[in-house]
Amino acid sequence: MVEDWLVALMKGYNRASIEQREGYMAQVHLPGEVFQSLVWWALQALPDEILVGLDVDEHRQHRPEVEAAFSGTSVHDRLFQGQGHIIKEAHIVNRGDSYSVHHLPEEWTDGMFSANRGSRAGRFTHWLHTHPNAPAIPSGPDADAAQETTGVDLILGLRFSPEGPLPWFDDVEGTQRSLATEPAPKVKRKRSFFARHQLPVLGKAPTGHSIHDIQLIAFHKSGHGVNVVFVDDEAYPYGWDEIMATR
Ligand SMILES: [Zn+2]
Repeated sequence: MVEDWLVALMKGYNRASIEQREGYMAQVHLPGEVFQSLVWWALQALPDEILVGLDVDEHRQHRPEVEAAFSGTSVHDRLFQGQGHIIKEAHIVNRGDSYSVHHLPEEWTDGMFSANRGSRAGRFTHWLHTHPNAPAIPSGPDADAAQETTGVDLILGLRFSPEGPLPWFDDVEGTQRSLATEPAPKVKRKRSFFARHQLPVLGKAPTGHSIHDIQLIAFHKSGHGVNVVFVDDEAYPYGWDEIMATR
């Protein structure tokens, strides 16, 4: 079950994805159930970042009417591997700091997992890593790591409290895609107790963290952004009826 507050956020994000469709030449459909797991795992792994491998469902394609609605005028339908297929499942592959997290541990490359992972021999189509208390904007090492990806790379940025050893860091330039309709305000360098407690709370995680912002981007190794659409069990976007009723 996906939490109601997260469903509401995914609806808002989907609406932004359709409004901004001209800025993208491809899209990727991510089930809300999988996304919720990613958010929980990200918080459970603190203070580490996690690297997650994502598999697509070979038998489940994007619904054509959804693909069409979220397509801009310049579409590239053969940009990456797995394109047009809905993401099926996620596996945590590594955890560490922003440099070490991109390296595949030995057990994922020595064949132990390749036997039960079929012909791809332990390699995933898409990769996602987390930015705890930082925006979802790729760093230099992120762009380098993406060059090995056959699908797309995703970054999940979370703003939460209690912050632990990771105060919110937003001194980076780039396009941000937030699930919050009103992005959390920038906090002055000297963060007071009062300022922290003024942040809006989007929801609570099972770890006890208050979540103030969730950001998600996807990009191809060429540097092009890929539009993310959150889909339900029926492969329809969250908020689909409302979106179509107002277009
Ligand atoms: Zn990163």
